[in-house]
Amino acid sequence: GSTVGILGGGQLGRMIANAGSAMGYRFITLDPTPDSPCGQVAEQIIAEYDDRDAARQLADQADVITYEFENVDAGVAAMLMEQSYVPQGSELLYTTQHRLREKRAIEASGVRVAPYSEVASKDELRAAVAAFGLPCVLKTATGGYDGKGQWVIRSESEIDEAFDSLAEARTELVLEQFIRFEKELSVIAARNPQGEIRTFPAAENIHVDNILHLSIVPARVEDAVQREAERLAARIAEGLGVVGLIAVELFLTSDGELFVNELAPRPHNSGHYTMEACRTSQFEQHVRAVCGLPLGDASLLTPVVMVNVLGEHVEPLLERMAAVDETAERLGAAPKVHLYGKHEAKHKRKMGHVNVLAADVDAALTWIAETNIWRA
Ligand code: ATP
Ligand code: MG
Ligand code: MG
Repeated sequence: GSTVGILGGGQLGRMIANAGSAMGYRFITLDPTPDSPCGQVAEQIIAEYDDRDAARQLADQADVITYEFENVDAGVAAMLMEQSYVPQGSELLYTTQHRLREKRAIEASGVRVAPYSEVASKDELRAAVAAFGLPCVLKTATGGYDGKGQWVIRSESEIDEAFDSLAEARTELVLEQFIRFEKELSVIAARNPQGEIRTFPAAENIHVDNILHLSIVPARVEDAVQREAERLAARIAEGLGVVGLIAVELFLTSDGELFVNELAPRPHNSGHYTMEACRTSQFEQHVRAVCGLPLGDASLLTPVVMVNVLGEHVEPLLERMAAVDETAERLGAAPKVHLYGKHEAKHKRKMGHVNVLAADVDAALTWIAETNIWRA
């Protein structure tokens, strides 16, 4: 069998390795943290991500290389491409590492993003705020996640402070118009080197404190909106020449308009529901795509709600497992618990998730409410 190398050893790597192991592949991961979530189920090279010697070692041992986060050092990516097979290439990384490049690429594939403007100074920021109106969102072009590296500007008096605070990151800044969305959706599309594209059903996402809390599938939107979201994701996969997965986050307005928020060139938290709810999971699909296999059937088998298990949820979940199972039986829901093997259950840290399968999403949501574990 072939060996797949994964840059990054977090939970996404672990779930890629678990899915790929079931298909006969071996896995080796590169991650600085000993006993990483992926290292527990695969071989691990313990080194920093930008360690060239370690990357060379990974390339030597792997037939195919993929990554589970998008901030891969460009030099390391180039080196890996010379020494091994990196089907996803480095272009997709280069594009999605930077919000401005990413937005331009999305627009070039004919898909709309929220109106935005690059801002290089306070004067430019003031002008852009005046053009978009308040509120608006200032973001660093690189490095942000879970809402870090952004500032919602609600009054003109915040402009100076917002600029100074984000300018510390020493990257370009982008101002976005605030979209008064009715819902946030995401669609994961897969594309293999042969150019075949499949999309997973759109998820409706609910965030708490900028961290994903729930993914509800089917999304509670009109069928036409679901289809349009899926069509846009396929178009982006095509336009960017994606290999592997591309996760597309979208805003849906009350007029039924869709705007892309951002992309992630990898399995996505909002796609964890596919593990039990789709014929092919996003992780299996990713392995199929990077290994050049035909893509799997991505269709939905059952309604599902994915709820994230953060540090503060682990203890109550484990303590109340019996009661929680009873509730599930009463509601006809089937909660599938996934934990990532992380050692420290820090507050807000993603420790696992539960995929709640049920006859409809309301029954799954009722289970989540009645367990009293997620008191959002
Ligand atoms: P992630 O953890 O998903 O990578 P991130 O830090 O990269 O998050 P974004 O996805 O850009 O940040 O924004 C986080 C959240 O903030 C969005 O899911 C959305 O709820 C809100 N948000 C971001 N940009 C806008 C906008 N232009 N208008 C309205 N809300 C926005
Ligand atoms: Mg992001
Ligand atoms: Mg996001």
